Amino acid sequence: MSASSELIARARAHNFFSWSAQDAVNPIAMVRGEGCYFWDADGRRYFDLNSQSMCVNIGHGDRRVIEAIKAQADELAYAGPGMVTRVRAELGERLAQHTPAGLEHFFFGVSGGDANENAVKMARGVTGRHKVLARYRSYHGATFGSISLTGDHRRWASEPGIPGVVRIPDPYKYRSALYRAGDSDADFAQRCLEQLEEIVMFEGPHTIAAILLETVTGTNGVIIPPNGYLQGVRELCNRHDILLICDEVMTGFGRTGAWFGVDHWDVAPDIMTMAKGLTSAYLPLSAVAVNDRVFDHFRKNVFYGGLTYSAHPMCLAAALATIQVIEEDDLVGNAQRMGRVLAELHDELKAEHPSIGDVRSIGLLGCIELVRDQKSKEPLAPYTGGGDVMPRIAAYLREHGVYTYLWRNLLHTNPPLCVTETELRETMAIVNDALSIADEAAHLD
Ligand code: PLP
Repeated sequence: MSASSELIARARAHNFFSWSAQDAVNPIAMVRGEGCYFWDADGRRYFDLNSQSMCVNIGHGDRRVIEAIKAQADELAYAGPGMVTRVRAELGERLAQHTPAGLEHFFFGVSGGDANENAVKMARGVTGRHKVLARYRSYHGATFGSISLTGDHRRWASEPGIPGVVRIPDPYKYRSALYRAGDSDADFAQRCLEQLEEIVMFEGPHTIAAILLETVTGTNGVIIPPNGYLQGVRELCNRHDILLICDEVMTGFGRTGAWFGVDHWDVAPDIMTMAKGLTSAYLPLSAVAVNDRVFDHFRKNVFYGGLTYSAHPMCLAAALATIQVIEEDDLVGNAQRMGRVLAELHDELKAEHPSIGDVRSIGLLGCIELVRDQKSKEPLAPYTGGGDVMPRIAAYLREHGVYTYLWRNLLHTNPPLCVTETELRETMAIVNDALSIADEAAHLD
């Protein structure tokens, strides 16, 4: 038995894996990582084309973050959420240098899911209203509240969820019935906004606490809003006194080639949630950034929320060191530069493969959407996943040393932000080969 097989067998005997039927899990026995690569227990190397869960933004094994975590453990491993620590003071100051103007107060938790739940609690507290509008093609976390806010099928198993969530459609140019051939961004944005305005009217603006959006949709297929959409949602929120919550759990910390996704459209939400890239996942940490309006409400009103691990000093130290790395290595700039290369490589793939319906990317957040037929746009795999084509592509990639996230008909391309052009080209050449499996399957049907 290989070292990998032995480790996997031992782990499977006593572990309960997430998002899986237990008999179907097929994990890699990961033993170490460096930069864009990680290795399994048999010494096999993999390029990490998904930064694990779109979270290891600075790359694996960065000594600067590891040493900072060790030093914090020596200085003070834990302090309760009611304590003030050096790292707590420093991280607030440091984050405020990068968040959009006005978002300068931070509530620390441990995951993207709890950040979104706290954001909704805050919005309900401030407005005294209960409804939250959230999109269908969205993911906001797996905890009970956040899975209810999630629009995609992952919520079904947890329904009925929390009350007050109203679904709204997505500005999804490739599949939206509102998009007409030849539309400019402005035209398409306008139609989406008119539809949203109508839903707000039907629901009653005085009942709506917040509109919650992933600034750029992540796992549901890198849906980049048309220019004008986010600005329009901001304006609509202002007009109806509704709070705008942007979920930047995946899009934050350089992933899109800007510090935050909202920077591309120069929009400041009232509340912004972050996790993943905040520590590059070296330790678990989330933050909810709020503006003065939200913060001022809670100067006199109690905020009923908190966790034993809120503002955990070791996690805060990891975040401080991560931000330092992003700045020092200009990873936001590298995400822009390599993002241009990724977009080019996507276009080349699209020109070559009949199974590619659409390619989308912004910075190093990317995705390839596979179809049976470019005209009908029929997805290569069903909405809830399944079929054997995507698993066969995943198996080919793994065999050839590339790890990424494939689900439904989507193949994600999200390397760490430290990726080089050579690494990106080598990896996408393997993706190119793997896509012949998709072409063949599309052709056979
Ligand atoms: N929001 C978005 C946009 C995400 O992509 C995720 C996780 O993938 C979450 C929230 C939930 O974060 P976590 O898994 O840390 O709870």
